[in-house]
Amino acid sequence: MRAFTGQFTQQEAIPDEAIAAAVDVLKSGRLHRYNTLGSELSVASELERDYAAFQGAKFCLACASGGYAMSIALRAAGVVPGEKILTNSFTLAPVPGAIASVGAVPVLVEITPNLVIDLNDLRKKITDSNAKFLLLSNMRGHLCDMDELVGILNETGVTLLEDCAHTMGARWNGTLSGNFGLAGCFSAQTYKHVNSGEGGLLTSDDPDFMARAIMLSGSYMLYERHGAAPARQHFTDARLDTPNMSGRMDNLRAAILKPQIATLEANIQRWNQRYDLVATHLGRSATVVVPERSSKEFYVGSSVQFRIPGIAEPDARQFVADAKSLGVELKWFGDRDPVAFTSNHHSWRYLESQILPQTDDVLAGLFDMRIPLTFSLDDCRQVSEIIVHCAEGLVLDGAA
Ligand SMILES: *Cc1c(COP(=O)(O)O)cnc(C)c1O
Repeated sequence: MRAFTGQFTQQEAIPDEAIAAAVDVLKSGRLHRYNTLGSELSVASELERDYAAFQGAKFCLACASGGYAMSIALRAAGVVPGEKILTNSFTLAPVPGAIASVGAVPVLVEITPNLVIDLNDLRKKITDSNAKFLLLSNMRGHLCDMDELVGILNETGVTLLEDCAHTMGARWNGTLSGNFGLAGCFSAQTYKHVNSGEGGLLTSDDPDFMARAIMLSGSYMLYERHGAAPARQHFTDARLDTPNMSGRMDNLRAAILKPQIATLEANIQRWNQRYDLVATHLGRSATVVVPERSSKEFYVGSSVQFRIPGIAEPDARQFVADAKSLGVELKWFGDRDPVAFTSNHHSWRYLESQILPQTDDVLAGLFDMRIPLTFSLDDCRQVSEIIVHCAEGLVLDGAA
């Protein structure tokens, strides 16, 4: 079989318009977001205004990273040290990290074989832990039944914060991910849906929450120089009661991002063409199981996940190695040793270890692959063929 030669970590170039805007900022020398002349609106503020409009949110704060957005969201929501925070057991390390950063205690909730939070386990853990907050991680872009989730949270008085690192532009039943609870947290890190290397966006309709978040982000007393901020009266107490935890976005990153908001919808279509091709191809194999997605879910297929249920550990390693030898980079979430970006709850030793048999069972057979937009549809076809070839080869070995 012919090896694939594309690069799984190669994103598209930054658009020319964004490069030109970045050069303008550099030439101006005014990189700090509050370094404005006269009534000039900084690019960071323009980005906030544009992203709030895209998201249909009243308020938006641009900040340093997705992880930072989550940590100030927790604090601005009123989370205090020692408080229990429910979150998905399958997520990326910045999520438990954000919870730890405010001295709170993660309570991990099981996931289903479709990679979303298990709503039955959530109900049980709300009762058992008496937690008042859920930091929902829409990990790898999979949305649970958001209507049912919101119903449970309303009934139990739990506040929802959404980690939308993989769901920027995704929707459930027509509503954009990030608009279901108190706040949405987004990342502009290179491997997400917009790319400024690092960066975060926090959205909310709650003016007092957002006033605290803006103060936390390190606005000094310049909070009125924001693009999508609440009115002055919401800062009356917040400006004095809230610590400064500097994590601002600068104008250079904002300049790189702003034109990308305008092309996000078009890029989502391109991602989904690629995702649908891969998912359809993998779905035809009897060995590989692609998670089911509800017709209410409009996803952004910037990566693909699939399971080989019951695969033994040596076989999983062999499968990843076989695919790699043919140029296909897969991640395996069942690995006991965390590798590169991938880790699972067993390697978050800073939190109390938790028993999650259902999640462990899913992760043991769960594989993941990036779909960068630099891949053509032909590339996607070739990669899919390699995956199926390697997966089915394993089964034959096992039977022999
Ligand atoms: C990338 C990511 C984040 C945020 O990451 P930053 O690197 O802090 O921007 C949060 N949650 C998930 C699931 C992610 O993949």
